Amino acid sequence: MDSKHDKNQKGRAWIELNLDNLAHNVKQFQKLLPKKCALMPAVKANAYGHGAVQIGLKLAEMGIRDYCVASASEAVELRRAGIKGQILILGYTSPCQLHDLADYQLTQTVVDLAYARVLNDYGQPLCVHVGIDTGMHRLGERSEDVEKICEIWGLENLRITGVYSHLSASDGNSEAEIAYTRKQIEEFQAVVETLHRRGISGFKTHLQGSYGVLNYPELEFDYARVGIALYGTLSMPGDKIKADAKLRPVLSLKARVTCVKVLHENEAAGYGLAFRADREMRIGVVSIGYADGIPRELSNKGYALVNGCRANVIGRVCMDQLLLDVTGVPKVSAGDDAVFIGRSGEREILACEAAECAGTISNEILSRLGSRVERVIRLDKSRYE
Ligand SMILES: *Cc1c(COP(=O)(O)O)cnc(C)c1O
Repeated sequence: MDSKHDKNQKGRAWIELNLDNLAHNVKQFQKLLPKKCALMPAVKANAYGHGAVQIGLKLAEMGIRDYCVASASEAVELRRAGIKGQILILGYTSPCQLHDLADYQLTQTVVDLAYARVLNDYGQPLCVHVGIDTGMHRLGERSEDVEKICEIWGLENLRITGVYSHLSASDGNSEAEIAYTRKQIEEFQAVVETLHRRGISGFKTHLQGSYGVLNYPELEFDYARVGIALYGTLSMPGDKIKADAKLRPVLSLKARVTCVKVLHENEAAGYGLAFRADREMRIGVVSIGYADGIPRELSNKGYALVNGCRANVIGRVCMDQLLLDVTGVPKVSAGDDAVFIGRSGEREILACEAAECAGTISNEILSRLGSRVERVIRLDKSRYE
């Protein structure tokens, strides 16, 4: 799309979503998972910055019935948008918000026995999944504390429909990481067997996130809580995965080149004299900044694509704007798109590449994309066919 001078062009900074690619990724995972295992997409943090409602509705349209989020407010947002089925809250819900669990039929994680008692004292039946700590040492009763775990089943107001744990090193290929993951899998399976031996049943099980599925696809649980990979990206560009999954990026991040100007040799640009021209150059001012989710860490370091060419970020990233070196970009002018994640011409910047440049992972870059950035559904066909 040539958007220059087009009054229908997008605003200052925007996200384009390719929902065909989301559908493709969902199918890839459904193919990879055992028949009895259902996808429970992680749509927390505004669906990793993609927009929880848009993503949730598309997933529902594809027949997805189960979702997981981080907080009660995120779950309520999905319910209000018309999402039915099970919504599991992976994190803690404060006692002052428990009414949301009942009012919106949400499923809460039991983070430990003490919290199970708090939920039970609410006085109305609440649906829960019991978290088991097998080595992440974040939420859940420890897997060896079998008595405490079993006590949760004695609480009369809890409707326990699931038991789950979380892998802490399933993305790693080192011997230590693989051994640790195998141990976590065994510990989790042992807890499930113990519960069954004691006559406790009627609950679903789940353990894997994206990398748990991609590196241990042979595991057979009832759900897989897949987040980052459903959005079509790995966390880091160099990550090696075992499964043969072809993922397609769902999100592009773009902003407007608002003006193009000359910077003379030896002139500084931006805050703090952080950049000085060593030759005459052309710079493009772009309407996106750290408040929109471009890390300030990318000052003098990041890059974007303009008209299919690489343009480096120069000087400090500001709150609402940044500067690009567009000296090598032919025919650049105000109104052009600057692509920070996604394709431009023959080139592409993956979310994980932008993340690596900023010293982080794609999960963080995507989930921190600002609320000020517009989200639009791209209608043109996928370029990955
Ligand atoms: C965020 C999260 C997931 C999804 O993780 P991805 O690596 O993005 O697939 C799964 N389970 C838990 C408990 C989480 O917090």
